[in-house]
Amino acid sequence: MAQSYSKAYWQQQAAALTIEHRAFIDGHYCQSQSGETFDCVSPIDGRLLAKVASCDASDTNLAVASARRAFNDGRWRLMAPVERKAVLLKLAALIDEHKEELALLETLDMGKPISDSLAVDIFATARAIRWHAEAIDKVYDEVAPTSDNELGLVTREPVGVVAAIVPWNFPLLMASWKLGPALATGNSVILKPSEKSPLTAIRFAALAKAAGLPDGVLNVLPGFGHSVGKALALHMDVDTLVFTGSTATAKQLMVYAGQSNMKRVWLEAGGKSPNIVFADAPDLDAAAEAAASAICYNQGEVCTAGSRLLVQETILETFIEKVAAAMAKWQPGDPLDPATNIGAVADSGQLERIKALVAKGQEQGAKVVVGGSAADINPHGFYMQPTLFTGVNNNMAIAQQEIFGPVLSAISFRDMDEALAIANDSDYGLAAGVWTQDLSKAHRMAKGLRTGMVWVNQWDGGDMTAPFGGYKQSGNGRDKSLHAIDKYTELKATWIKL
Ligand code: NAD
Repeated sequence: MAQSYSKAYWQQQAAALTIEHRAFIDGHYCQSQSGETFDCVSPIDGRLLAKVASCDASDTNLAVASARRAFNDGRWRLMAPVERKAVLLKLAALIDEHKEELALLETLDMGKPISDSLAVDIFATARAIRWHAEAIDKVYDEVAPTSDNELGLVTREPVGVVAAIVPWNFPLLMASWKLGPALATGNSVILKPSEKSPLTAIRFAALAKAAGLPDGVLNVLPGFGHSVGKALALHMDVDTLVFTGSTATAKQLMVYAGQSNMKRVWLEAGGKSPNIVFADAPDLDAAAEAAASAICYNQGEVCTAGSRLLVQETILETFIEKVAAAMAKWQPGDPLDPATNIGAVADSGQLERIKALVAKGQEQGAKVVVGGSAADINPHGFYMQPTLFTGVNNNMAIAQQEIFGPVLSAISFRDMDEALAIANDSDYGLAAGVWTQDLSKAHRMAKGLRTGMVWVNQWDGGDMTAPFGGYKQSGNGRDKSLHAIDKYTELKATWIKL
C-alpha cells in the first residue's frame, strides 16, 4: 500500500536517520587520510547533519589507483553486458527501495521540498540508472562498408577512469546522469559530490556495492572547496572528466586538463534560458503557469530555469498580471511539509548572492512587481520569496547573469526577429521555450535559437530519450539518451586485410 506522507512523518524519519559521513574508496567506507572533516549543515534550519570526511589530493590518489586497478583487471569492464545490466538493474531497484531515506537526505542536505525529492529526484535517479542499464545489451558496434578483401570494424571501448564532479541543485540526479552511462559502458568512476550536498552520493555507494558492483569501480570522495575537484582534474591517471556545475568552474577544469594529461572534459554548465511568449500562444493561462513554475521550481536553482521571460509587447500587461497570479501559488515553506512547493535555498552564500542581484536589478532601473526579499520561514534557515521584475533590459545584470534563485526578469519584444535577437544575446545557450500556435513561427524560432534544447508550448519537455546539454558557455557534450555514451567511450577503427 502506498505510504501517505505528512510533515510529522518526515520529521520522525529525520530524527531517526543514521547518516553515513565517510568517503568510499576501494569498496569500503573510510575517514579521510588527514582525518579532517567539514560540517554538513541543513539550510532548512541550520542543524548540523554530519561531520563529513574532508578528502584531499592524497585520498584522490588512493581512489584513482583503486579505480585504475579495477579497470585494468577487467572485473567490471570485461563482464558480459548482460551481467553488468543485471547489477545496474538491481541498483535501480535498491534506489527505489530506499527512496524515502534518499529523498530525506536530499531535502535535509540542500533544502528542496520533500515531495520533489521523492517524486522527481529519487524517482528520476532510479530511472536514469535503469535506462542506461537496459541499453547496454542493445547497442551494437559498426562494420564499415569496405571492399571485398577488407573488414573494417568500428568499435566502442570504455575510456577507463572517469572522474565525475557534480553540483548541489539535483545532487543524486546529476550524479546518475553521469554514473548510468559511465558504469554501463564498463568504466571505473570517482564521484565528487558538492560540499553543499554530499550525503546521497555517499549513501549511494553502499547501495551500489549491495547491488554487486565490484570494489573499486565506484569511489565517492566528499571534499570541501575545490581540493578534490582540482586534484581529479589535474590527475595524470584520470582519462575523462565529466562535470555539471557553474561555467566559471567549467572553464577552470578545461585549464587543468590542458595542464595535465589532456583528459577528455565534458561540461554541463550554467544557463539564462529565455521563455518566449507570443501573443498567439495557444493558452496564455497555461503559459503563465508554466512561466511561474519554470522559475520557482527547485527555488529557481535549476540550470534550465526559465529566468528570462520574453513577452510580446501587445500582451505585456495582461500576461504579466497572469504570471504574478501564478507566482503567488509558489510560497516558501518548511521543506519537510509535503505541501511545500518552494524550499530553502542551498546556503547563506546563495541567499546573499540572490539578494545582491535583486538589489542590482533595482539599481539598474527594473521594477519589482512580486517579492523582492528573503522569506522569514526559519531564523536559522535560508529562504527567498519568488520575485518578478518588469521593465528589464537585456543588458541588465539580472538578464545576463545566472541568479540561481526564484527571480524572473520580464523583457518585452516587438516581433520574431527581435525575440530571437534578445534570446540569443547571452553567453549561455542551454534551453529556450516558445509559445505560439503558428507552426511556421515555432519551427523558425526553434531553428534560430542557439540552445541545446527548445520547448514549444511547454517548459522542460523531454525525458531520458532526449539529449540534455547546451551551446556556447552552457557547456559541451550531452547527458541522457544514447548520445551520452559518446562521453564514456573511445572509438576504435580496426582494419583487417582479408
Ligand atoms: P560549482 O561550479 O560551484 O560546483 C560544482 C562542483 O564543482 C562541486 O562539486 C564543487 O565542489 C566543484 N568545484 C568548485 N570549484 C572547483 C574547482 N576550482 N575545481 C574543481 N572542482 C570545483 O557549481 P554549483 O554551485 O555546485 O552548481 C550550480 C551550477 O551548476 C549552476 O551554474 C547551474 O547552472 C549548473 N548546473 C548545470 C546543469 C546542466 O546540465 N547544464 C545542471 C545542473 C546545474
